[in-house]
Amino acid sequence: MKQAEAALQLSAQQLRSLADTDGLTSLANRRAFDTAFAREVEKCRDTQVPLSVLMIDVDRFKLYNDTYGHLAGDECLRAVGNCLGKSVKRSTDIVARYGGEEFVVLLPNTDESGAVVVAEDFRRLLSDENLPHATSEFGKVTASIGISSARGDALHSHAQRLLAAADAALYQAKGHGRNQIKLQPFAEQVTAAKVGNGRPAITR
Ligand code: GH3
Ligand code: MG
Ligand code: MG
Repeated sequence: MKQAEAALQLSAQQLRSLADTDGLTSLANRRAFDTAFAREVEKCRDTQVPLSVLMIDVDRFKLYNDTYGHLAGDECLRAVGNCLGKSVKRSTDIVARYGGEEFVVLLPNTDESGAVVVAEDFRRLLSDENLPHATSEFGKVTASIGISSARGDALHSHAQRLLAAADAALYQAKGHGRNQIKLQPFAEQVTAAKVGNGRPAITR
């Protein structure tokens, strides 16, 4: 009976971990990210410890699939995920596939300047991979990155604004020519609807 219980327990754990993992990249999936985000926001309550978010979107990825095929596209997403995994250094950092060719990184106890270091490391690692992308203006696989940071009660009361701000920053990075990093300050005073900066609803 004890053995059977232990076996069941193990498979329940395995199921949980499968449910939290993205099948393609083996990174955390959107569901796991949402849970981790809520947990980290809660930890920041009543403290001034900063929380940073990076939103990452592969540039010209539709063209990549069109040029090299969907399987090569899948391989490319794994390579991007690997670079992201290498660019975070703390065990508390979380890299997740947010959906499609979009990734998200959660950096607890990290301010904006720390987040920029991670983003720059990632951009350099991806550039060093030199993955050919003949139909991109850069000739290789690149990504655009949006960053935002917040701390304290404002973060706790308006946590979704942190994600919206990072997303708006990503949208700016795309608009300014892709393959770059943009910051968007966390907007405490602005209504959530304005934070999106007019970006159309994201489809994932
Ligand atoms: P931008 O530079 O503006 O980001 O352009 P984009 O082409 O990267 O963006 P768009 O949203 O037009 O295309 C995203 C593409 O990502 C289209 C979709 O087929 C592809 N994609 C999404 N998920 C996967 C996947 O799991 N595997 C592969 N191979 N492709 C995927
Ligand atoms: Mg996208
Ligand atoms: Mg893209």
